[in-house]
Amino acid sequence: MDLILKYFPEISQDQIDCFTRLKDLYSNWNKKINVISRNDIENLEERHILHSLAVARFIQFRPETQVLDLGTGGGFPGIPLAIYFPDSRFVLVDSTGKKIKVVEEIIRALSLKNTIARHSRAEYLSEQFDFILSRAVAPLKKIEKWTRKNILSGSLNDIPNGWICLKGGELEKEVEQIGEPVTVIPLSRWYEEPFFSTKKIVYIKK
Ligand code: SAH
Repeated sequence: MDLILKYFPEISQDQIDCFTRLKDLYSNWNKKINVISRNDIENLEERHILHSLAVARFIQFRPETQVLDLGTGGGFPGIPLAIYFPDSRFVLVDSTGKKIKVVEEIIRALSLKNTIARHSRAEYLSEQFDFILSRAVAPLKKIEKWTRKNILSGSLNDIPNGWICLKGGELEKEVEQIGEPVTVIPLSRWYEEPFFSTKKIVYIKK
């Protein structure tokens, strides 16, 4: 919990309890259905929870903001953000049914009332959202193409609706393919741990 509190000291006791429970929940579920590498379970707080919460450094979602986590896998970044933003609504989608089963169980165990999990490919989703998040799913252009139909017009928040993606490595080509201005922020701006030194957040407005 120390790392989360280092960067997010404002969280409530309820939120601390939820984040703390994630380690046991994922350790148990991961034995049955592998959604996180074994090594990463040991580093869940840094590599999954804190990494996901980088989105909360970039934007504070207003109440009622509708958020899609596309390709959520075992629930990242969606689950940590749903805990952090209890007044926003999260839909966590993945095309792999067994991963969605784990996400459903985590949502149920934590009684996350603002979150639902859905087994679907992005291409078949019709619901619309203010923001679409993803971590490590596909090149930016593909994500944009699959989900352009899913972004609400208008805007509830300080920045226009759009995509917020957590990415690692070389991004130049992917950003070029978008063909419009894209905001890229290195996570080292907020986090000092070496794990984040190559990681970035990418924002594309609709
Ligand atoms: N975001 C998670 C998982 C990343 S792995 C994390 O960072 O831990 C990528 C995930 O995207 C896989 O679970 C895969 O099933 C899902 N995925 C890939 N293409 C998809 C699509 N078109 N629609 C929905 N899910 C997709």
